Amino acid sequence: MAFYCSRCGSELPINARFCASCGVAVPASQPIPGRRLLRPREGRQIGGVCIALAKANGWDMAVVRILTIIGTICSSGLLGIAYLAAWIGIPEEPPAAPTTCPPGV
Ligand SMILES: [Zn+2]
Repeated sequence: MAFYCSRCGSELPINARFCASCGVAVPASQPIPGRRLLRPREGRQIGGVCIALAKANGWDMAVVRILTIIGTICSSGLLGIAYLAAWIGIPEEPPAAPTTCPPGV
């Protein structure tokens, strides 16, 4: 896999820090696709915030849930408010099947 300088378009080795042609700094790591923060429709317990955080960061879902419950109790419900904010802020995963009628029906 090769990538290209954003300024001059020269091909760069994957571990390059600077472009050999124009000297522009190269980002250290490329963004990982498919790691968007989304609340899945499957497997959620309350609002899907814990599962969304676990999936996006590669954490254990059970650990995230336990920490959320403990954190909510220990913070006198403050984390519960943060949970509600995350629930509103994190978009829901788009449905797997199209909601429109299939053709021919
Ligand atoms: Zn360049």
